[in-house]
Amino acid sequence: MITVEEAEKKISEICPLFSSESCFFDQADGRILHEDIYADRDFPPYDRITMDGIALSFAAWKKGQRVFLVEGIHHAGRQAPSLENPNACWEVTTGAVLPEGCDCVIRVEDLKFQEGSAHLDETITVTQGQNIHPKGSDYPQGGILLKKGDRLLSPQAAVLASVGKKEVLVGRYPKIAIISNGDELVEVGETAEPYQVRRSNPYVVYSALKREGYKDVHLFHIPDDEIKLREELERILNEFEMIIMSGGVSMGRYDFIPQTLSHLGVKKVFHKVAQRPGKPFWFGKSPGGKVVFALPGNPVTVLVCLHRYILPQLERSLGVRNPRSINVVLGEDFSFSRSLTYFLPVRVENVSGLMKAYPMPTNGSGDFVTAAQSDGFIELSALENHFSQGYVAPFYPWYC
Ligand code: AMP
Ligand code: MG
Repeated sequence: MITVEEAEKKISEICPLFSSESCFFDQADGRILHEDIYADRDFPPYDRITMDGIALSFAAWKKGQRVFLVEGIHHAGRQAPSLENPNACWEVTTGAVLPEGCDCVIRVEDLKFQEGSAHLDETITVTQGQNIHPKGSDYPQGGILLKKGDRLLSPQAAVLASVGKKEVLVGRYPKIAIISNGDELVEVGETAEPYQVRRSNPYVVYSALKREGYKDVHLFHIPDDEIKLREELERILNEFEMIIMSGGVSMGRYDFIPQTLSHLGVKKVFHKVAQRPGKPFWFGKSPGGKVVFALPGNPVTVLVCLHRYILPQLERSLGVRNPRSINVVLGEDFSFSRSLTYFLPVRVENVSGLMKAYPMPTNGSGDFVTAAQSDGFIELSALENHFSQGYVAPFYPWYC
C-alpha cells in the first residue's frame, strides 16, 4: 500500500501533458494558456489622462498662476493637440492623450470654468505628472504580459483583448469517459426497487468536470458481468484518453475491474492507498497511453479522490503554472486513530479573516448527504492521530 503523496507523484509521472489547441479569446475562460503573450505596444500606449479636468504646464502653476485660459476641449480618442500658450490649458477628458506642452492634469472638482478660463482652487497642491499614466510605465512594447501556464480568467481576458489576440493557444481538453459499475445501480429517472440504488457517482464526476469546462465527457454504465465489462471497457479504452470509473475495485467476488483492466493490457501503477476513505483506489495506464482512475464505489470516496487526485492532475496535464492550493486552520480539536491519511469533510467559516474548518465527519463513506452539506474536505496527515485546534491543513473545496 502506498501513501497519498506517493500516489499523487505516480499519477503525475504517468499522466501525459495535453497538447495545445487554438481557442477564441472570448471562449477561453478558465483555460490554461499554452503560449506567452507579449505587449504589441507600450502599456499604456500614450501618456494617458486619468481624470476629467484641465491639462497644463506645471511650470506655470509653480510660478503662482491660478487662472488659465482654455485653448479648447480635447476628448479621448483624438490626436493630441499642442498647448500654444504655455500659460494656458486644455480642457481634457479621462483616457485622452496628454496635449503636447502639458505635464499635469487638475481634476474638474478642483476648479471652476468662468468666461473661457479655468480658475483653480487656491488650496490645492499640484505636482508635476499628476493624473497622468505615463506611456510604457506599466509594460514596454515586447514585454511579456502573460505566461504559458497561466489560467485565463477575467483579468487575462482584458490583456488578450488589449493586445488584439483574437485566438490563443490553450491546453486541449481530453476526451473523458466516466463509468459506473454495479448491478445494484439504476438510472436517475428509474424507480429503485428495494434492493437497488440510483447511481450518483457518475454525476459527481460529471458535475465537477463540466464546471471546470471539460466538454468532451461521456457517461457509461456497465453491470457486474465480466464479459460485458471486458467488451465495453475495450471499446471505451480505444475511444477515450482518460477513464474515471467507480465501483468494483475492492476484494468482493464481483469486483472484476482490476482483473479486467489487466486482461485488456492496462498496467496497474498502484492498487490501494493508505487513505480513508478510498483505500482500494486503483490507477493504471494502457499500452496506448490512456489513463484509468478506478475508484471504489462509495460516493464520498469518489468525491474525495476526484478532488484530491483527478482534478489537480487534469490541471497539471493542461500545463498549469501555479496549481490551486488552499490551507485552512482546524477550528476545533479532532482525533483519528488509524495510520491513514484522513480526508475529513468540513464546513469552513471566515473568522476575522482566518479560514477555519469545522469537522463534519460522514457516517461512513456511503454518507454523501453529509458531504453535500460541507464545503469540502481537509487532509489530515497519516503520521499524526491528534489534530489540535489551529492545525494547518490543505483544504479541497467542492468549488473554487
Ligand atoms: P463497490 O466499490 O462496487 O464495492 O461499491 C461500494 C458501494 O458503493 C456499494 O454500496 C455500491 O452500491 C456503492 N456504489 C457504487 N457505485 C455507485 C454509484 N455509481 N452511485 C451510488 N453508489 C454507488
Ligand atoms: Mg460493486
